[in-house]
Amino acid sequence: MRVDILTIFPDFFRGTLDYGIIRRARETGLVEVNIHDLRNFTKDKHRTVDDRPFGGGEGMVLKPEPIFECLESLAGVVPRPERISGSAKQSVIVLSPQGRRLDQALAADLSTLDRIVLICGRYEGVDDRVSEYLADREVSIGDYVLSGGEMGAAVILDSVTRLIPGAVGNEDSTRQESFTSPAAAGEGVRATQEGRPTSTCASGGLLDYPHYTRPADFRGWVVPDVLINGNHEDIRRWRRKTALAKTLRNRPDLLERVELTGEDRELLDEIRGLQSRV
Ligand code: SAH
Repeated sequence: MRVDILTIFPDFFRGTLDYGIIRRARETGLVEVNIHDLRNFTKDKHRTVDDRPFGGGEGMVLKPEPIFECLESLAGVVPRPERISGSAKQSVIVLSPQGRRLDQALAADLSTLDRIVLICGRYEGVDDRVSEYLADREVSIGDYVLSGGEMGAAVILDSVTRLIPGAVGNEDSTRQESFTSPAAAGEGVRATQEGRPTSTCASGGLLDYPHYTRPADFRGWVVPDVLINGNHEDIRRWRRKTALAKTLRNRPDLLERVELTGEDRELLDEIRGLQSRV
């Protein structure tokens, strides 16, 4: 996958690209990331990228010309209609709090593309003609307002890169994480099951279960017995139950969207029973 990031603060991405999975994915050629300084596409001596809003009001707005010219200078980006129709595996994205909210399903969709361009706004935002005529979608990383799109671009890059096959050492691990839909976790998880408890606990749209590592006793807080002494079936059931309990506590909205099995309902009854006794 090739990713291009358009920004007025290219230095922001120093470091961001140099750690962990993104670094490895770049080194192995799974992902190529290019950062473009929008000021290089200005024509005046002050290298102006922003201007006052038509109609008055607070703040400044990123001008359309440097963004259009920067994008048009990139080889191989297909015209907007082909991106919208899906006939090309490309997307040009404007980071915006008004966009579709990023979630694991959208990250998974984006991870199947060959090319992503991320346009980072600043100030009051980006001249809307960029969204109307150049980009094919707007994406928000959450219901809050940041001061720029760079953080959002880094979040998209990270969440998408780790879903590209080969980016994470053990692919099962990304299939079993929080939010991962049953369809995405799917048969692959079952196919690699081989009786191991880890592979039978795919999140199925729930939050992940708690993880522990050595030491088993840390300052007197001991790891749940079942993980040390339990058999695989007990571990699987415990993980499913704790995932359900955490989802019920922190994100009950997710429970309404997942398909619960008979066992899940049983476990939820146990959890609710425990809660009502407290
Ligand atoms: N006036 C806008 C906010 C602009 S914030 C509004 O009220 O909606 C400046 C820039 O930061 C935006 O252009 C966008 O690129 C980025 N940004 C801010 N919040 C964001 C979010 N939640 N998700 C993605 N990008 C965001």
